[in-house]
Amino acid sequence: MKTSAYAVQTATTPLAPFNIQRRDVGHSDVEIDILFCGVCHSDLHTVRGEWGGTTYPCVPGHEIVGRVAKVGKDVHKFKEGDTVGVGCMVDSCRTCANCQEDLEQFCPDTIFTYNSPDKHTGGVTYGGYSKSIVVDTAFVLEIPKHLDLAATAPLLCAGITTYSPLRHNNVSKGQKVGVVGLGGLGHMGVKLAKALGAHVVVFTTSSNKVEDAIRLGADEVVNSKNADEMKKHLNSFHFILDTVSAPHDINAYLILLGRDGNLTQVGVPPEPLSLNVGSLIFGRRSLSGSLIGGIKETQEMLDFCGKHNITADIELIQMQQVNEAYDRLLKSDVKYRFVIDMASL
Ligand code: NAP
Ligand code: ZN
Ligand code: ZN
Repeated sequence: MKTSAYAVQTATTPLAPFNIQRRDVGHSDVEIDILFCGVCHSDLHTVRGEWGGTTYPCVPGHEIVGRVAKVGKDVHKFKEGDTVGVGCMVDSCRTCANCQEDLEQFCPDTIFTYNSPDKHTGGVTYGGYSKSIVVDTAFVLEIPKHLDLAATAPLLCAGITTYSPLRHNNVSKGQKVGVVGLGGLGHMGVKLAKALGAHVVVFTTSSNKVEDAIRLGADEVVNSKNADEMKKHLNSFHFILDTVSAPHDINAYLILLGRDGNLTQVGVPPEPLSLNVGSLIFGRRSLSGSLIGGIKETQEMLDFCGKHNITADIELIQMQQVNEAYDRLLKSDVKYRFVIDMASL
């Protein structure tokens, strides 16, 4: 089946219309008419080849919500007309230890929604900047019915990527939690940490985001460029989630952790960050990373958001505005997630 999409042809050309082929619906597949797709900074890193390993043409997009158009004969969980979501993964081996433990994101054979080998077509997977997608039912998520659909799309990556490390680190009532960077991931981190009962402190480089940070649920906001403001928080955090997409000084945050505190890096700057090991050794602090979350946990996060009425704060854009949105992401000018209205394609 042919479907229209937006792709880049090289690392330096803009996203532009491109027709792609989707596979026929197999027995365990769900065909989805895509209604909305979020714009993640990972889409930008990938299309511009910043991490290496991008295959062109590349159709990004892994924050997908849409309506079921067709299901295979073995699919009983979904039916035509259901609203569903697809996140960063569309398949995995299903048998390795990681898959068995519902941690498909760490499977050696994870098939990511875009830029992964596609065993069905022999090419690469194409993501959600398109009209339609065919996905195995095991990787299709149920969307809480009462949530705004466009504002739910970002939960499929920004939501799970922040929820998973907050849960893994047992963030709970009364803990002091920092969120570094108030972009797509960061603003979801604030909402989720707040819903888990934490005292939330936002670190931002953008003075025009201070009021919003409070509105989103932060208890305190720190201008991370101001050394005096930073100093007030020395040795005080249980947990810090770093969502920054560009090079920055992580040592400035490590020293804000209390004894045994953890800083988890989810932002993926293309360049290496430098580590002053003293910031770890004093206070027995730790530094970790975290990658999205498994399918089971993604469903748990969606249900949690349904229960707490949590969605993203979005700026809905037309497909044709996506290159402009990328330019704005690079300037940290995002409030707080661009979501593409696929009806415009
Ligand atoms: P985003 O919306 O562009 O937000 C990034 C934020 O980081 C900006 O809004 C800005 O916040 C801050 N920032 C940007 N440049 C900075 C700089 N030079 N110094 C200090 N702060 C800076 O991006 P996103 O979609 O949230 O993604 C963030 C990162 O997470 C990306 O690298 C992305 O690839 C990665 N990611 C990782 C995973 C995972 O599984 N680990 C999943 C999804 C995305 P302020 O204006 O508040 O300073
Ligand atoms: Zn993403
Ligand atoms: Zn596996």
